[in-house]
Amino acid sequence: MATLFSEIEYLRGVGKARGEKYRKLGINSPYELIYHIPRAYLDFRAHVPVQQAVLNEYNVLKLTVYRKMPPQRIRGGLVICKAAATDGIDDILIVVYNNVYGFQALKEGGTYYMYGKVTGNFLRREISSPVYIGAEERVLIQPIYRLTQGLSVNMIRTNMRQALNMMKAEPFETLPQEIMQRYDLPPLMWALENIHFPADEQSSEAARRRLSFDELLKLQLGMSLMRTRTRAHTAMKMDSGVDIGDFTGSLPFELTGDQSRAVTEILADLCRDVPMNRLLQGDVGSGKTAVAAAACYFAAKNGAQSALMAPTEILATQHFRTLTGFLEPLGIRVALLTGSLTAKKKAELREKIACGEIDVVVGTHAIIQKDVEYKSLALVITDEQHRFGVAQRAALAEKGGSPHRLVMSATPIPRTLALIIYGDLDISAITELPNGRKPIKTYAVTGKLRTRAFNHVRMRLDEGRQAYVVCPMIEDSDSDLFAVKTYAENAAKGDLRGYRTALLHGRMRAAEKDRVMQQFRAGEIQVLICTTVVEVGVDVPNAAVMVIENAERFGLSQLHQLRGRVGRGEYDSTCILITDNTSEECVKRMKIMSSTADGFKISEEDLKMRGPGDFFGNAQHGLPPLKIADIACSMELMNKAQTCAKELLESDPALERPEHRALKMDVLRLFSKEIIG
Ligand code: ADP
Ligand code: MG
Repeated sequence: MATLFSEIEYLRGVGKARGEKYRKLGINSPYELIYHIPRAYLDFRAHVPVQQAVLNEYNVLKLTVYRKMPPQRIRGGLVICKAAATDGIDDILIVVYNNVYGFQALKEGGTYYMYGKVTGNFLRREISSPVYIGAEERVLIQPIYRLTQGLSVNMIRTNMRQALNMMKAEPFETLPQEIMQRYDLPPLMWALENIHFPADEQSSEAARRRLSFDELLKLQLGMSLMRTRTRAHTAMKMDSGVDIGDFTGSLPFELTGDQSRAVTEILADLCRDVPMNRLLQGDVGSGKTAVAAAACYFAAKNGAQSALMAPTEILATQHFRTLTGFLEPLGIRVALLTGSLTAKKKAELREKIACGEIDVVVGTHAIIQKDVEYKSLALVITDEQHRFGVAQRAALAEKGGSPHRLVMSATPIPRTLALIIYGDLDISAITELPNGRKPIKTYAVTGKLRTRAFNHVRMRLDEGRQAYVVCPMIEDSDSDLFAVKTYAENAAKGDLRGYRTALLHGRMRAAEKDRVMQQFRAGEIQVLICTTVVEVGVDVPNAAVMVIENAERFGLSQLHQLRGRVGRGEYDSTCILITDNTSEECVKRMKIMSSTADGFKISEEDLKMRGPGDFFGNAQHGLPPLKIADIACSMELMNKAQTCAKELLESDPALERPEHRALKMDVLRLFSKEIIG
């Protein structure tokens, strides 16, 4: 017999073909089906007489079918089914396209609530492909689901009922009674039934609240359980007597107050045997790398190894150069380990890392692969961590017992969100930019002003500066978007004739990208025509102009990141956003970009405009996706879930008590077993 956790195919009426469609939606079992939460509801309570139906709009009608006509097959395999119906006063024709199965379920003489688009005129009306329920149905608010080809709302509803009944036969509850009472939450079974088939709005609201709470709670518990595991080990306790004066003295600049404070905080953490778990947050260009270098220097002086992980090879290479520049003169051995090294080079390097001949290893995720052994890894730094997944982070935590961890991020995530994403961590923030930084002048213009924009670019190039031109695509497609390849060709013949330009995009080979970046850094290339590969962390202080084509294609945070590639030196910098899009949203975004340089403000606006669903829907932060909870809109609920998680873990740190077992199972399911272990 099928159970809640059997394969979805075994649910009555599903079978192989439909099962595959469910799998497409990420639904593999009846249990997962139950968690396929409706995206909206259809309210059949508000039905109108045929007379009053608004033409060319969706209406709810209560109709009795009195004559079904045989299906008509027309060209192209299309099947049209028609039936005559009445509301008791007026007639209307029901037209169903390509859904013989759905049509068969309609009975002559049966009465239904139907929802569909009504067309025609006062004499002849039609309702096409209506969604319907029997008039005897007591639940008049019906769920609408995310669908896939070949899976209709009615099918999902039928299967949903079955899955719910299956669960009702043996209902289970994940929350202890006492918690439900304290936080005023309905039972799980009730919530699941009412999220799908609510009697009224209040019921669906209460159900949503309970399920959102569950989700937030599970998230908090999962993150905490992961941390407890790392906390169980102890980290290397470094010697606070080790001086880093040599390092700070040799820097080509003086650390800002915020940078020094961050360094002090980090060193203090390194001198404890509890693993550091710190987020170094600082806007683009605020100088996080120098802070990281200070930490690596301190670790090396303590005889320990550090690893610095970056999300892209370009960025890893750049960090390698920067750290080499800062640290090698002081006798610290820095190495770059990336996937594009030859097997022989890699093997040599791994050998050196294993016997402690390298102090600082820089690279992409390759440096946490199983085959890299460290002699004494004590500090792991991740740059732009929001791009790494939880699994990678866990793998990293495995290396060398439990190293101290420092996460660098330029995304100014509101603190509550940061706590969820990174866990119970400490935060060092760099809010001031290095001295002498000039604000980047940002202009948003339409394509008509492109010539003028390029006049400006050439003028700055003639002064000795360098420039970026960013396009949204690599290759031409059907859309009107600029593709970087063609753009580069045209620019070399047109607007940028006589200047040294080069192409850079993500599909180039690593060695090739590297060569181009090196030439750009050396000033041999004046203009880099590129995609968003330059978005993260690229640092060329002489680059003072950026042109972004199809600026409407980029989100606020992304534009801010991109823009952060200029304004890194002593020169006046300009960013020109080109877009012909006049939609309200785009205009607003361009306005925000030209009026503020404050990354925190931009990120908040971004969150507001895109909604947290998007923020969390995006897999980059590595959290399991939230299906129900809406973070920003339910801060209150989030705080409650946070308190609840804390209390639960205080009383039962590993969630081992019988009354917590169901909850723990749920957490494990959400995070997948191997991560929590
Ligand atoms: P981000 O925080 O975006 O990673 P970087 O570490 O790349 O910023 O630093 C941006 C630029 O600022 C680099 O060229 C770096 O050398 C320079 N920089 C860092 N700290 C200072 C400082 N205290 N004074 C002047 N320039 C600095
Ligand atoms: Mg950086």
